[in-house]
Order: sequence, then structure tokens, then C-alpha cells
Amino acid sequence: MQNRKLRFVILLAVLMISGFLFTSFISYFTANESIRSQVAKTTLPLTSDNIYSEIQRDLLRPISIASMMANDTFVRDWILNGEQDEQAMIKYLSSIQTHFNTVTSFFVSDKSLAYYHSSGKLRAVDPLIPHDKWYFRVQTMPQEYEINIDVDSADLSSFVVFINFRMFDYSGHYIGAIGVGLGLDRVQKLIENYNSRYDREVYFINKSGEIMLQGQSKHNYKNIHQIPGLSTFATQILTSPSNSITYQQDNEKYYLNSRLVPQFGWYLIVSQQQQEAEQRIQNTLLLNLAISFVVSIIILILVNFIISGYQKKLETMATTDKLTGSANRQVFDVLFQQVYNQSKRNKTPLSALMLDLDYFKQINDTYGHPTGDVVLKTLIQSIKANLRESDIIFRWGGEEFLIILPESDLQSAYEIAEEIRIKSADLNIIFAGKSVSITISIGVACMTKSDTHDTLINHTDEALYLAKERGRNRTERYLPHSNKEIDK
Ligand code: GH3
Ligand code: MG
Ligand code: MG
Repeated sequence: MQNRKLRFVILLAVLMISGFLFTSFISYFTANESIRSQVAKTTLPLTSDNIYSEIQRDLLRPISIASMMANDTFVRDWILNGEQDEQAMIKYLSSIQTHFNTVTSFFVSDKSLAYYHSSGKLRAVDPLIPHDKWYFRVQTMPQEYEINIDVDSADLSSFVVFINFRMFDYSGHYIGAIGVGLGLDRVQKLIENYNSRYDREVYFINKSGEIMLQGQSKHNYKNIHQIPGLSTFATQILTSPSNSITYQQDNEKYYLNSRLVPQFGWYLIVSQQQQEAEQRIQNTLLLNLAISFVVSIIILILVNFIISGYQKKLETMATTDKLTGSANRQVFDVLFQQVYNQSKRNKTPLSALMLDLDYFKQINDTYGHPTGDVVLKTLIQSIKANLRESDIIFRWGGEEFLIILPESDLQSAYEIAEEIRIKSADLNIIFAGKSVSITISIGVACMTKSDTHDTLINHTDEALYLAKERGRNRTERYLPHSNKEIDK
């Protein structure tokens, strides 16, 4: 029984705890995943889209300006006329620069290799000078124009985008390179804006992972290969046009979105630290688990308590006579053995009484069965009040009761029996307005060395029989070595 109870409580605990754990973790992962996917699939790509389109806008403008310059008839005529009036060209370039608010405007003649600039005529470009290499690339490139970004090597945060157009004369012969340079200030401002307003880090890296452009609050890393946690994803980022990844840096979780800006050959990187919301979800999970744990413990304690209560009730029901509250015959063996062992250990005597109501049938017949029940109940209550804690009373048969008296020899048992008998005769039981009086007969026996519980009971039975025989309302003792029990 005890084992089965333990098994039941353990099973309940396992079921409950796994249920709580399951639901807590499912809701945690669902909430977490929805936030994660919201950041990864919506927030970061949106930021990236905005910045991307700003760049496109910034790029389109200089392209159209440069394209217009490349088709300008004044420039063409001026070259075909042999680059005569330098001031006219300088004035033209300077007015473009002022009008369109560009950082620079330029023209390189293929014939003279002279570099004309809004501020004047500069030295001729030279294929041996690294800074001039761009011209010779433009001279032979197949496409109409290129976008070339020159970063101020002293300050990574400022950079200029050059639009280099190839220029042709009226019959389609290449005559030079023309174009403008524009600062991507707006992109820079946008980066700052996103950095501060949305707590997002925006920067550009080139195809080797070098950080080319970032906001004021830039970190010290020069290449994404050096950023702890992110370095393992560097190859993944640098080999595909767009990526969404999550990485861990200094115990903080970051979401990162990358996309290639093909005109630059750079990747736009937008990254964001784990959100507060996610921290809240984590805290909620811990709280859930704590509550589940406490609730489980309370339920288990309650269940244990209820089961124990029922167990006790069942045990009582199985061992107690419902009407009189005395022990029933089923538990006699167990209880007697305990008392017997104790008396043997302590070398104390052990006696038993068998008592039976006199003419009880008549009482039933005269007053009715329910009255008979009340009589039995009242009698046993009265007897119990006179017994010691260690004495045990059993309902042996219908109106027959066995009382075990530890530490009582025949004489003291006899005295107890007499006391019971006299008190019983004095009982005035009133039920349904009728007064009932009873008498009882008692047989007393004391356990000897040769006795078993069976022989002891037989002896009390015999003494009781004698009491009945000798006229009832009396107590008789069983005397082992005499043939017949003697009367007082
Ligand atoms: P005696 O003096 O010889 O013992 O006479 P008696 O009438 O008591 O003898 P008997 O054993 O023939 O009758 C016992 C009666 O007790 C018969 C039975 O109906 C009644 N009885 C047994 N158990 C109960 C009970 O739980 N309630 C009631 N009301 N009567 C009971
Ligand atoms: Mg009787
Ligand atoms: Mg009887």
C-alpha cells in the first residue's frame, strides 16, 4: 500500500513537472522565435533596405550628372578644337561643381592626358603613378562608366564616390574621362541616425571583410574576421549576396543582416543586440518554472495528505466495528501478537475477558433492533471509559466482546470484569422515550505458559458459559488446574 502510494505520487510528480516544463518551454521558444524572426526577417532587413535605397539615390544623382557631362557638346567641341581656352573648361567644371554641390568635377583629356579640375589644370596623369591608375582602367574598360570609391585613408568615416564616364567624339572615338565626385554624407548621417535612434550598428565591409565605413561610435575592429563570435560567420557573409545570422559576442547575442551593394562591391551590415523583450521572455520563463515548481510541490503535498487521510480511513474501516467503534475480529491476530510479545518481554501477566449481554434477543424483540444497536453502542462506550489505554476491546460476535488486559493477572482481571459488570447493570439507556436496563455475563482467563491465543479464548468462553449457566449477570474465572471454575 505504502509502496503503491509512493509510486502514484512519483508518477503524478513526473507527469505534472513534465507537463509544466513542456508548456513553459514551448511558450518560451515560440515567443523567442517570433521575436527572433521579427528582428531577423523584418526589422533588420527593413533598416538594410532603407539604407540601401538611400545609397542608390545618392549614387543615381552623380551618375546622371556625369552622364550629362559626357554628352555635353561644349566639352566635345572644346576638345576637338584642341583644348584651347583652358579657363573656359575650368569655368565649366567649376559651375557644375557649384550647381550640383559635388565634392569635385573633372575631365582628363586622352590626347594630352591633362587633368582638368574645377580649381584649375593639374598635371598630366601618369600610368606609373598609383593614384592615376584609375584613368588607364577607364580608358580601356568595356562599360560606359564606373563607380569608384576612394576612401580617405586617414579617416575611414569620410569617403568620396567618383563617377568616371568614358567620353566620345561625334564619330564615336574615345576622347577622355569625365565625371564628378560626391561625398556620401547622407549615408553617413543615416548610419549615425540608425546607430543612435534604433540602437543598431550599421557599417560597410569590402569583399575581404575589411570595415570600410562606419558611424562615429565605431568599434576598434578593422575586419570582421577579428570580431569575436562573428569571425566564424565571416566566410558565410562574404560568399553570398545576403545573410541573416545570429552570433554571440562577450556573452551578448547579436542579430546581423548583410547584403551586397553591387555598385560598390561592399556589404552593408546591420546588426542589433538582443532585445530587452527577449530578456523579458527569459525572465518570464524562469518565473514560470519557479511557479510550476511551487505549484507542483503544493499539489504533491496535498495529494499525499489526501491519500494518507483516505488510507487511514480505509484502515480504520477495515479494522474497526462500525457500530461500537471497537476493534473487529480481523485484526485480533496482529494486535494480540503485539500484546503477547510485550508481556513475554516484560514478563508481565496477560488476561482476557469474554463478555456477552444477557437475554439480548429479548431486548431486540421488546424494544426493536435500533434500540438494541443503541444499547450495544452505549454499553461499549461505558466499558471503554473504564479501560486503560493499553487494553483492547474486540467485537467478537453479535453481542459478544473480547477484552485483552495486558499486565493483569487473573485476580485483577476478575476485579476489572466485576467493575464492568456492575457498571453495566447500573446503565440506564434511554432511547425513543424508553428506558432499557441490561446485565452482562463475563468469563475471565489468564494466559499460562502452555496457552496459545486460541486456548486463552477457549478458556474465557468456557468461563462465560459457566457464568451463563450459573444464572447470568455474573463473572466467572477459568482456573487451569481445577476441573471446574470456582465461584467466589
Ligand atoms: P443469552 O443471555 O443466552 O446470551 O441470551 P441472548 O438472547 O443474548 O442470546 P442469543 O445469542 O441467542 O441472542 C443474541 C442476539 O443478539 C441475537 C441477535 O439478533 C442479537 N444481535 C446480534 N448482533 C446484533 C446487533 O448488532 N444489533 C442488535 N440490535 N442485535 C444484535
Ligand atoms: Mg447474549
Ligand atoms: Mg451471544
